[in-house]
Amino acid sequence: MNIREIPKDGKKISMVKSSEWFMGMVGDAAIDIESARDGINSTIDVHIQDDASVAIEGSVHADVVLRCVKCLEPFQSPVDREFSVVLEPYERSLSLSRSISRAELDAEFYSDNEFDPDVIVFEQIMLSLPLYPLCRPACRGLCSHCGIDLNEHPEHQCQNDTGANSPFREQMNKIRKIL
Ligand SMILES: [Zn+2]
Ligand SMILES: [Zn+2]
Repeated sequence: MNIREIPKDGKKISMVKSSEWFMGMVGDAAIDIESARDGINSTIDVHIQDDASVAIEGSVHADVVLRCVKCLEPFQSPVDREFSVVLEPYERSLSLSRSISRAELDAEFYSDNEFDPDVIVFEQIMLSLPLYPLCRPACRGLCSHCGIDLNEHPEHQCQNDTGANSPFREQMNKIRKIL
């Protein structure tokens, strides 16, 4: 979006994005993301401020499906986020003094009078997802010996659990590395 096309009193943009769009943006995320079920709804309100920074206020709603790190079952992680972001002109970052402050490191920039609303919305979704996705706070995970889901079989106890070197655990470690 070209900021020169934004009127003086701002511009409101509503966006509806598909799960396919979201998954295309996700690429190699650190957490296991399955889909954004019914897509993503977002509205942003963009204002150009007197100092040429771009103030964006918005909201984003989605039902993201994640995979639990313990039991590997998919579960819904609803995203309902209100946000405000300020983008500074990138040219300004070049004129900053050499000792960069924490606030400047956190600043986001736009360049050539352009910014991408898709990227803003995508970042906000990712910021609202957990770093360590659990299907429930007390997920029991899988039996490290046979792989049975301990949420469904809380009484399960493996008879001959050989511990750390069980074939199942080796397999799980491999899967976790790939994820
Ligand atoms: Zn779980
Ligand atoms: Zn077991």
